[in-house]
Amino acid sequence: MPPNLLTDARIRAAYAEGAGIYRIVPQAVAIPRDVEEIAALARWAGETGTPLVPRGAGSGMPGGNVGAGVVVDLSRAFHGLDVNPDRRTARAGAAVTGVELADAARPYGLRLPPDPSSGAFATCGGMVATNAAGPRSVRYGSVRNWIDAVEIIGADGDARTVRRGAGSGERFSLAADSRRLITEHFPKTRKSSSGYALDRFAESGDELDLLIGSEGTLAFFTAVHWRLDPIPPDLAGAALGFSDLAALAEAVPFLVSLNPSALELLDRTLLRLIPDAPDLGCLLLIEFERETAAAARGVVGDAVRGLKHHLVHVETAVDRAGLEHLWEVRRLASPALARLPPSQRSLQVIEDGCVPLERLGEYVAALRSAAERHGVPVAIFGHAGDGHVHVNALPDTTHGGWLDSLAGLFADVTDLLVRLGGVPAGEHGAGRLRAGVLEHFYGAEVMAQFRTVKQAYDPRGILNPGVIIPAADWAPLAALKVGEDAAAIPDDIAQRLRELERNAAWATPKLELARP
Ligand SMILES: Cc1cc2nc3c(=O)[nH]c(=O)nc-3n(C[C@H](O)[C@H](O)[C@H](O)COP(=O)(O)OP(=O)(O)OC[C@H]3O[C@@H](n4cnc5c(N)ncnc54)[C@H](O)[C@@H]3O)c2cc1C
Repeated sequence: MPPNLLTDARIRAAYAEGAGIYRIVPQAVAIPRDVEEIAALARWAGETGTPLVPRGAGSGMPGGNVGAGVVVDLSRAFHGLDVNPDRRTARAGAAVTGVELADAARPYGLRLPPDPSSGAFATCGGMVATNAAGPRSVRYGSVRNWIDAVEIIGADGDARTVRRGAGSGERFSLAADSRRLITEHFPKTRKSSSGYALDRFAESGDELDLLIGSEGTLAFFTAVHWRLDPIPPDLAGAALGFSDLAALAEAVPFLVSLNPSALELLDRTLLRLIPDAPDLGCLLLIEFERETAAAARGVVGDAVRGLKHHLVHVETAVDRAGLEHLWEVRRLASPALARLPPSQRSLQVIEDGCVPLERLGEYVAALRSAAERHGVPVAIFGHAGDGHVHVNALPDTTHGGWLDSLAGLFADVTDLLVRLGGVPAGEHGAGRLRAGVLEHFYGAEVMAQFRTVKQAYDPRGILNPGVIIPAADWAPLAALKVGEDAAAIPDDIAQRLRELERNAAWATPKLELARP
């Protein structure tokens, strides 16, 4: 055994869950203090064939942060943070959260434009590993666009820095035939965190693009070199209500053409859970960042005028305070979901699908029908401007048959996304949950390329096995944290994990959960 492996049963239980649906008790936990300790762990794992599960805050949803091997928690050390205002860059250790980075950059008038809503707890390591994104990604893309370099430790234990523009490296390259395959088989969505980004790798020729979004399966990230952007001086926005979804096919592409900095959807299924929310088919919240107040207000006027025949509800905001007030309804969604009765669990199984923009209305309508067909209530909301919505499935887990209904919903929504030319994950990753469906989206030949990438970086298969590349016994709805078959862990720890989930308190050091 390498030094510092924690095998106490209470500690292992505290690391058995992340956000999302799984409970898998690891065989041990490691909390490395520096790069050398990770390197030693990787070498030991290679020699012993022990799986390692890289982990940040544990807020990722599709199960990439849990596993039966050794969970390696990078959220406790690796806190270095250094902003260079002249170059508009920052070097952040893997444990630095999105909010810590934002707080350090703000005094210089700078920010990381993609703004994952989980910034209070999501770590830089986790954000890069999942290619995270947020409401402003409609204008600024996912974090991929803002990464200059990553400091990594590979499966062989070697540390190196991989930079933008440095080329493909020695491990993996694409033949001309494979490039054609990728052009033909990769869905054309605005966002994706679903498998290795061979499309982006084909464009840039940069190894960095393989590593971003690799979900702990190719390397550990120990630090990230970010590019930052000036915070625009002015903004304005609106809340635009529609009586039904049909208008989205026209409204969303029109609004995106006006270059918004956020365009978010609150569907009827979510609005109904929020006290005093307007009674609408759906609501779009739009934000425009501009160089002057007049420009920001002007474009809000263009948006409202352009859609006046469709709108049944309009509120506008001409400054930051007004906009925050308008967006309050979005923020009330999480507490509303947290207040659901204990029997009704919010489970993330179809929570991250992304479709081409013009198919969004069709996707949301079909999601509603699928949910009704299977008798599973859902709450739908998210990043309309990217054709990307989150769906919380809310089954009553005290009702017999809920798991079969959930499995049916998962299968139907997978088929739906394939039919609409979508991807199963716009920003959360494939994880364990979706590893087995990737082949439906990309086909067997692209999946073979994914396996070649994995083999090239991790020939012994020690880094997060079962994530992105499915395990032979892949079963998306097994090893759940809910239901009679959930793995046994001490009651008090199960309770603390549930509270942590309800309060999204993922920044909590997990060792605290293990204290008697
Ligand atoms: C309430 C809530 C809101 C959310 N909102 C958003 C959102 O707006 N946008 C968004 O993109 N996501 C969102 N998420 C999902 C989640 O926060 C992101 O996926 C986040 O990037 C995960 O970071 P983490 O530190 O928690 O990583 P973890 O959950 O610990 O890990 C996620 C994956 O990254 C890998 N990983 C983590 N750290 C490293 C590392 N240092 N090196 C190598 N691999 C690593 C893990 O193996 C795993 O596969 C939300 C989650 C919650 C609970």
